[in-house]
Amino acid sequence: MKSRPWLVIPVVAGFLAVGCQSAHTQSSQQPQVIVVPPGDAAPSTDTGAPAAGDSTPPMKAPAAVPQTGPSRLSYNSCNVDGQYIALTFDDGPHATLTPKLLDILKEKGVKATFFVLGQCVEANPEVLQRAAAEGHEIGNHSYDHKAFTKAGGAGVASEVNQTSEAIEKLTGKKPATVRPPYGSTNTSITKRLNEEFGLKVVMWDVDPLDWKNRNSAHVTSEILKNTKAGSIVLSHDIHPTTVAAMPDVIDGLLAKGFKFVTVSELIAMDRPKPTPTPAAPKPSRK
Ligand SMILES: [Zn+2]
Repeated sequence: MKSRPWLVIPVVAGFLAVGCQSAHTQSSQQPQVIVVPPGDAAPSTDTGAPAAGDSTPPMKAPAAVPQTGPSRLSYNSCNVDGQYIALTFDDGPHATLTPKLLDILKEKGVKATFFVLGQCVEANPEVLQRAAAEGHEIGNHSYDHKAFTKAGGAGVASEVNQTSEAIEKLTGKKPATVRPPYGSTNTSITKRLNEEFGLKVVMWDVDPLDWKNRNSAHVTSEILKNTKAGSIVLSHDIHPTTVAAMPDVIDGLLAKGFKFVTVSELIAMDRPKPTPTPAAPKPSRK
């Protein structure tokens, strides 16, 4: 099977104030460019927190990074036996909405993954500690939601290290995964995140665009429509409409037979996709 080329998709995303701190909303819109790896569903923008500075410059299409098997450096979804999926929530912890979500997850018996911002961890340390204590995975989502592709080498290190240190200080555990803000990365940054910082790069294959569609019914239907075995579902625990959608999302996914695991658990189940064999020619009738 021919592999699809990398696609570079320009999109326009709205940016909002950081959920954990100020309540004001910025109305500016900035163009974003994201890179879609071959062989996976297209990630769209991961927004919900402000971008510092100007618009993200277009990224070069990265060279191929292994996309299957244990040597993968980044994951949009996993190839698993069974109906396992991972729910992921970005841009918190939020002072009030994350605890509401934790109540829902606890009631439903669901484990999820939180990709947190270092500055929100510092603002809401007890919320982070509760999430970790209740068995959820804590992943790194930068310190202040700066795009890694424009942070510079030292900037990426600072964004990653400040956040991992804040998480480890509060939970006693270093994060094992990172989600670049806006899904904005490239081959060299992805390799560096793995090799220098020991972090698997986690993208997504299901995106209800909950930062844009502030409608719980829409968020629910998008997730239920697009989730498949091995999916990594992106949403944000800083929007009331997203948190309000989660009881129906979880009930709907359970009804379809899905089982919830953390992102690292899903990655541990990932196995190489079988190489498709060409169909045997049909014998001609005589
Ligand atoms: Zn984000």
